[in-house]
Amino acid sequence: MKVVQNLVPANKYSIKCPYPMDAEFIVVHNTYNDASARNEVQYMINNNSSTSFHYAIDDKEVIQGIPENRNAFHAGDGGNGKGNRKGLSVEICYSKSGGQKFIEAEKLAAKFIAFKLNEKGWDLSKVKKHQDFSGKYCPHRTLDMGWQRFLNIIQAELDNLKGEEMITMTLQKWQEEMGKKALDSLNKKKDNFGNPVVNSPEDWKKTLGDNVPQWLFWSIIDRISK
Ligand SMILES: [Zn+2]
Repeated sequence: MKVVQNLVPANKYSIKCPYPMDAEFIVVHNTYNDASARNEVQYMINNNSSTSFHYAIDDKEVIQGIPENRNAFHAGDGGNGKGNRKGLSVEICYSKSGGQKFIEAEKLAAKFIAFKLNEKGWDLSKVKKHQDFSGKYCPHRTLDMGWQRFLNIIQAELDNLKGEEMITMTLQKWQEEMGKKALDSLNKKKDNFGNPVVNSPEDWKKTLGDNVPQWLFWSIIDRISK
């Protein structure tokens, strides 16, 4: 499971995530727009409204904006509300227009939630909806398509995890940058026979967050090659 962090700077903690938190459950949202996860998190970090969330997930990636040990304001139940003070928030992207991108985003969100439940030793009862805390009809499209259906997808992902070795890795931005630089550098090198050291570096860049720490692997190869 790859998670890319783009965390809110500490000087904005007082606006976005003022309280330390020990999460007790997950709160599911839909973004009600058509922005990618990266853009959703960047927008949240840049603006000065208190609205915040821990994770945004689209059809391609999971982006984290708030550390898990701090609260976020997403559940609409106020400064002392259980949702805002104990909930790990997950925003599912592309819910406004729906379609295949939303379906894929929901699928990746279900997989991520299954990983989280497993990591924390929680069962399916720990998956809540925004609606449970403030009455807002959110996650709107997930609810339209069937809440129990979504829970079933998470359960199927959980069943898939059983017996498999769990390796979770969070790819930090500097690690991603370091990996990309190493691949760009390697791309210019040739082996003893004059062949390129790496083929298709752009494809390798997409694997930088895989379970084997690819960013480190390529950085080492780059250091030891001429
Ligand atoms: Zn919501």
